[in-house]
Amino acid sequence: MAVPSTQSRSGGAVTNMMRAWAISHPEPINQSPLVLVERPVPTPARGEVLVRVRACGVCRTDLHLAVGELPARRSGVVPGHEVVGEVVQLGESAGRFRTGDRIGIPWLRQTCGVCRWCRAGKENLCPESRYTGWDADGGYAELAVVPEAFAYRIPTSFADEQAAPLLCAGIIGYRSLKRAELPPGGRLGIYGFGASAHVTAQVALAQGAEVHVLTRGQEARELARRLGAASVGGPFDPAPVPLDAAIIFAPAGELVPLALESLGPSGTLALAGIHMSDIPVLDYQRHLFRERTIRSVTSNTRQDGEEFLVLAQRLGVEVTTTPVPFEHADVALRDLAEGNVRGAAVLILNT
Ligand SMILES: [Zn+2]
Ligand SMILES: [Zn+2]
Repeated sequence: MAVPSTQSRSGGAVTNMMRAWAISHPEPINQSPLVLVERPVPTPARGEVLVRVRACGVCRTDLHLAVGELPARRSGVVPGHEVVGEVVQLGESAGRFRTGDRIGIPWLRQTCGVCRWCRAGKENLCPESRYTGWDADGGYAELAVVPEAFAYRIPTSFADEQAAPLLCAGIIGYRSLKRAELPPGGRLGIYGFGASAHVTAQVALAQGAEVHVLTRGQEARELARRLGAASVGGPFDPAPVPLDAAIIFAPAGELVPLALESLGPSGTLALAGIHMSDIPVLDYQRHLFRERTIRSVTSNTRQDGEEFLVLAQRLGVEVTTTPVPFEHADVALRDLAEGNVRGAAVLILNT
């Protein structure tokens, strides 16, 4: 099979180079940690496929990596793990997809398959788990490779731009909702209302939940109202009713005591993020007694992903996006840091 090539923009000669954004070294966002570089087109290894990227969502995890809130695992890594593109080359023994198929490259990239967690259906906790855009180069690039076993087929009802945020924001929001153990018809509090929360809220509403959104930002509040939230308030407001469950999407530890205080007896608080600022000291009576529970959410399993993508298509989940030209990935990351993104920012590549 022919190796796909990109035209060199300088000389017009065919080369095997591509453009990619890399985190040269993590530093504050106003010092531009993301740089546009030329890289060789990656070669798909055994069991991998090469994908020509058409859209890549901008996730808060990319920002955590760029500014060093998450430790680097690979020097000069290309971030991006909400990748929608077309298969252009199959590695040795890869047979799940054909060239031309539209697939998604997600956050969870590899697990060992044999440890106690993998065997217990909890591969998200596998100590050997590897992640796209952290351990391996991701989709802020013209081309990217992925182990085929960890890629997803994209539901046909979603355009590239709308499908991209489903691959992390959507899937991890879905796992957070499961971890929150909301009873049928229960009251759910959602803290922060960005890419992940606005999709998760729709799934909860479709399942009959009463959803209360607590977030800053006028646009986010309007979106919450339009999608059917029963109430919308500021992040530091008390919930208007005792909640059966809550999810904190904002990476702000100071929200934890507030959310716990808004839970009714036996309520559960799920923390959706990979990183959170320090959690203040909790008061046992005010925040935990009466069998309230607090739990984290770590990545997701492939089963979460497959379940969620089927559900998203069936429910007709509406994904609010802000398209950004690939060339402006650095600006998109800065906008996310400043809270200036409506829904999910998605890099668009003209292929
Ligand atoms: Zn494992
Ligand atoms: Zn993500």
